[in-house]
Amino acid sequence: MYLYNSASRKKELFVPNHPDIVKMYTCGPTVYHYAHIGNLRSYIMEDVLEKYLRWLGYPVKRVMNITDVGHLTSDADEGEDKMLKGAKREHKSVMEIAKFYTDAFFSDCAKLNIKRPDVVEPATNCIDEYIRIISKLMDTGYAYFAGGNVYFDTSKLERYYIFNDFNADDLDVGVREGVEEDPNKRNRNDFVLWFTKSKFEDQALKWDSPWGVGYPGWHIECSGISMKHLGEDLDIHCGGIDNAFPHHTNEIAQSESYLGHKWCNWWMHVLHLNTQTGKMSKSSGEFLTVSLLEEKGYDPLSYRFFCLQSHYRKALVFTWENLDNAQLAYQKLIARIAGLKPGDGPVDEDVFASQKEKFQAAMDNDLNTSLAVTALYDALKVKASDATKLALIGDFDRVLSLSLLEKAEKKREELSRQAAAPAAGAGFSIISESGEEDPAVNEKIEARRAAKKAKDFALADQIRDELKANGIELTDIPNGVRWKRV
Ligand code: AMP
Ligand code: ZN
Repeated sequence: MYLYNSASRKKELFVPNHPDIVKMYTCGPTVYHYAHIGNLRSYIMEDVLEKYLRWLGYPVKRVMNITDVGHLTSDADEGEDKMLKGAKREHKSVMEIAKFYTDAFFSDCAKLNIKRPDVVEPATNCIDEYIRIISKLMDTGYAYFAGGNVYFDTSKLERYYIFNDFNADDLDVGVREGVEEDPNKRNRNDFVLWFTKSKFEDQALKWDSPWGVGYPGWHIECSGISMKHLGEDLDIHCGGIDNAFPHHTNEIAQSESYLGHKWCNWWMHVLHLNTQTGKMSKSSGEFLTVSLLEEKGYDPLSYRFFCLQSHYRKALVFTWENLDNAQLAYQKLIARIAGLKPGDGPVDEDVFASQKEKFQAAMDNDLNTSLAVTALYDALKVKASDATKLALIGDFDRVLSLSLLEKAEKKREELSRQAAAPAAGAGFSIISESGEEDPAVNEKIEARRAAKKAKDFALADQIRDELKANGIELTDIPNGVRWKRV
């Protein structure tokens, strides 16, 4: 597999450090609020990477942190603690907030078929790790104590910037976000490893340390948690593109200074999901959650399908119209798969192998998921038994995770129930030709049926005309109605 490496800015042939394990680390959520669907774009694409590695036969160990301490409103260690902000907003304790939003995060992940990483570690569980690393950085002169905090000294590095060629002004995150600069820093990109003093007094969680009672900075947690569970080297580190600087840059600085050697080989960064007015973020702009999608009648997996249709290294613009299109295409896909007969075998091994090759070629090219989805449609069109097509779909869906076979099976059951209803002389079926579900259309059809029953034919015709004006055409069938978009 060729995977783009943000550190070298090239697609490189993926070769793990150890033959028996691929070590993968993902920056997890800061649990002070719900994840928005932008955050979840990153987790969906990282999930695809993990599942594709497993599909290729690699054993993977994947670790994710849960940020429940130390992440300030500016990524450059300034401003208010995000967890405290969340606790104040909801009049709860920091730990209550952390538990609530961690559970909410994994519930969203489950709805999007995002697998839970092998290890999920809250930052507050690993204080000893951070103290061990920071102590060595102090001993070796990479860190200094000033104004009550411990800072990493970026001037000690030969090369600090890894992912970009920005000049120092562009990188001045604190100033950009309108936050005052910290006068204790020797260099503008130095960052806090351990806080004992900050701009606010009421930090809830504190631990004893050689530098006083305090709490860790945000960046050190990912180095500490990764080393605790994956040792001194790492194959792939993932995150959204905003994590590249300063977070991942600082992780590399402190990890490699501590270890004395290279730490992580591949850096995978997922580009942002944007709204039409700009980046989706928790603090500004539209804040769209999985629950909101569900409330509006979307299947969360339609959103996963939407994400898979574009490449992870391109920014993706979210509009409701785009999501509508993805949902419709997803439902049509399921309806087509439902039309295949599971018992119609045998599996044609040659066709299976050649179609699988197409899928693999797409995924091997830096996870080209939109081409992989095309390979899925091609598999449906190929001249082969239904059993072959179903085997291919099941195989590709181990990576795409769209629940295609399960949903198609449900659809098949639903269709056979509907087909059985007229024969039994009971029930009233509403069948959409595309396989799409639309509760609003169903409601209108039911209202028309009630009007007909009450012999109010004028109202029944009016409802049919209203639907027609909205592009929905009805055909009466025995004991039901079939509808389609025109
Ligand atoms: P946070 O919970 O803010 O620490 O972010 C969790 C993950 O979501 C990180 O990997 C971020 O880089 C990523 N992320 C934040 N905003 C977006 C966005 N609009 N689109 C995609 N990923 C994002
Ligand atoms: Zn991280």
